[in-house]
Amino acid sequence: GAPVTKIGGKSLWPIQATILEIPPPIRDHKSAVMIFGAWLGGTHPNMELLWNNIVDQIQDLYENGIILKLNDHLKIKFNIRVQLITFDLPALAHNCNIIQFNGYDACPVCKTHGYAIGTQIFYPFSQASLIKKTDTDYLRLSTLDLPRFRSHGIKGPIPLTKIMLFPSQIAVDYMHLVCSGHFKTLIVYWNQLLLPDVFEQVSNFLLSITLPHSFGYQFMPLV
Ligand SMILES: [Zn+2]
Repeated sequence: GAPVTKIGGKSLWPIQATILEIPPPIRDHKSAVMIFGAWLGGTHPNMELLWNNIVDQIQDLYENGIILKLNDHLKIKFNIRVQLITFDLPALAHNCNIIQFNGYDACPVCKTHGYAIGTQIFYPFSQASLIKKTDTDYLRLSTLDLPRFRSHGIKGPIPLTKIMLFPSQIAVDYMHLVCSGHFKTLIVYWNQLLLPDVFEQVSNFLLSITLPHSFGYQFMPLV
């Protein structure tokens, strides 16, 4: 969900698709990216309205593929499969119908429960590998009327499980989780560990870089 304007509170939730057979970076060129759907409104999208028709059409493509007729009347058939899907936060929880990242049982991939310190939920490091959530969990737990602690954060059914295996086909959102997420926390810790001028040197280095005007922003000092 991206805000459309600074006032009015409406946000836009686009569904974009890229074709894997096109190599990067032209795969992401605006003429190559397809818009499958979009929701514009002051509320979160209704998942059924947003996804049902898209999922139905993709299911049809799974069965029938796309047949192209060439100039010489030759026909080629393309089989269509969806490989991966990625969501930013909080679209992930909303689209997967799972608990938001700041609640208990919020991990889309495993069954770690989390515990509260003050008002925040923490997920401790574990030596033993955690039990994974499976596609069956997503299908089964979403349709049973279970108490909250037994549903492992899965709140209800979603249209997407008709065409994809959850959670294995959800790609990790590296940009939000690592680059603009955990890395920020690490920088705060490093600031307490490293010598005082280390951050100043890094900041000066970043400020000396001029990004191309098409970026719309420049590097900022770290602290
Ligand atoms: Zn997990």
